[in-house]
Amino acid sequence: MHTFSVRTGSRTQMMDITSQVREAVAESGCDDGLCMVFVPHTTAGVTINENADPSVTRDMLMELNKIVPFEDGYTHLEGNSAAHLKSSLVGCSCMVPVEGGRLALGTWQGIYFCEFDGPRSRKVWVSCR
Ligand code: ZN
Repeated sequence: MHTFSVRTGSRTQMMDITSQVREAVAESGCDDGLCMVFVPHTTAGVTINENADPSVTRDMLMELNKIVPFEDGYTHLEGNSAAHLKSSLVGCSCMVPVEGGRLALGTWQGIYFCEFDGPRSRKVWVSCR
């Protein structure tokens, strides 16, 4: 298992972590198989989406914040229910095929750490098999 940390800078944020995952795959020595990216948090997530036009992740966060408003009469005393909901909607893991030691991503795909209760220091776990 390879791990790295990210430091998010705002309450909600999608941070491109493709290069860090690439490095973890290279360190793992995995040649052909599956790379699992796992986020060990209940108020964050990880997803794969377009990394060419930054307006895509901006729009995704804008709409997620509409679907799950920050305040909505939630009962969770910590006050971050919206972040818990978004974490489950997006999911805390994703899989990418590894071919010839490299991540087999589509041309426009990038791996995004999704912060829903930042800013914070976070961890990402990468496992290749
Ligand atoms: Zn909470």
